[in-house]
Amino acid sequence: MTNTPATQGDAPEWNRTGHDFSQRQHLHYTGPIYDLHAHVTMTAPSDQAAGPAGGAGAAGSADSAARMLDIGQQYHVIQTVSMCPPQDIVPLRERLGDRIRFNGMINKKPEEPDSAAIDLVDRFLEAGIEIVKLWAAPRGRDRGLTLDPPWRIAALRHAIQAGIRIVMVHVGDPDRWFETVYTDSAKYGTKADQYIPLRRLMQEFSDCTWIGAHMGGSPENPEFLQELFESHPNFYVDTSATKWQVREISKRTNAIRALVTKFPDRFFWGTDLVTRHPLPEEHYESRYWCMRTLWESDWVGPSPIADPDHVPQPGEGPTPTLRGLALPTHLLQAVYTDNAVRLLQSRN
Ligand SMILES: [Zn+2]
Repeated sequence: MTNTPATQGDAPEWNRTGHDFSQRQHLHYTGPIYDLHAHVTMTAPSDQAAGPAGGAGAAGSADSAARMLDIGQQYHVIQTVSMCPPQDIVPLRERLGDRIRFNGMINKKPEEPDSAAIDLVDRFLEAGIEIVKLWAAPRGRDRGLTLDPPWRIAALRHAIQAGIRIVMVHVGDPDRWFETVYTDSAKYGTKADQYIPLRRLMQEFSDCTWIGAHMGGSPENPEFLQELFESHPNFYVDTSATKWQVREISKRTNAIRALVTKFPDRFFWGTDLVTRHPLPEEHYESRYWCMRTLWESDWVGPSPIADPDHVPQPGEGPTPTLRGLALPTHLLQAVYTDNAVRLLQSRN
């Protein structure tokens, strides 16, 4: 429907195509939108440019967080569920009120005792989280972060005893990374291997809602997601990770639309935006713009966002083609609004 100018060599990663983000006529959904997957943190000038975000706590600034959520509000995002270190939660809530809710990551360093994970959960519970996250990307194996080691399960049980019933998991990474990064399958396992412990946990903790981050880690394979939905009634996905979803969902819009049509209650919209101290408004805007364009419009054109995993097909430029799903309004209402409202109201 729309096209944009050619790439500019020194353009920022959030706008390689010189795109005008004020073009929003194609975004027609008027209801409130919930971002179920983001990393909104306190920030400080001394923060690292990449890696785990946040942690400055009350000594940091909430300006980046407010900047991001203000842009989100322009895109009708009224509430965002954030993963951040526990010390960031109280100052963020003070600044942002009910525009933000929290998800606590159950982690520990390899050298820390098992009790460190329980202590972390206690800090999160005290600060008022509603979800726990188990991050288990294959690259986590380098530092002992598999999905279900005993210390993590003990900490999960501790959270469940305190009333938590929502568990987000990151198990998959892009198929492409299994060709380029995780080539040592003896160390990292195959992509299919990542789902073996997840299936076991979903059965063992059957009264919990399990949310597979980033389209369950498999936007490349809607047939596989359908099988997971059918086999596990407590399995849900969030739609986050803009570059990955734009690249892969655009390649198979009919199959993904059919999947949402068949399982409309199993999707939560999310961005995976991360606040970083120096990031300008345009960075945040690029993700909101792309993630609404992808789900609700029939817009077709080069994605504005740089994507190092993009392999250009004939006729494509340096960024992937973004091809909108154009979901009908009743499905958008489920994915953007109703599923999240139901989830967050039914907690405990
Ligand atoms: Zn994330």
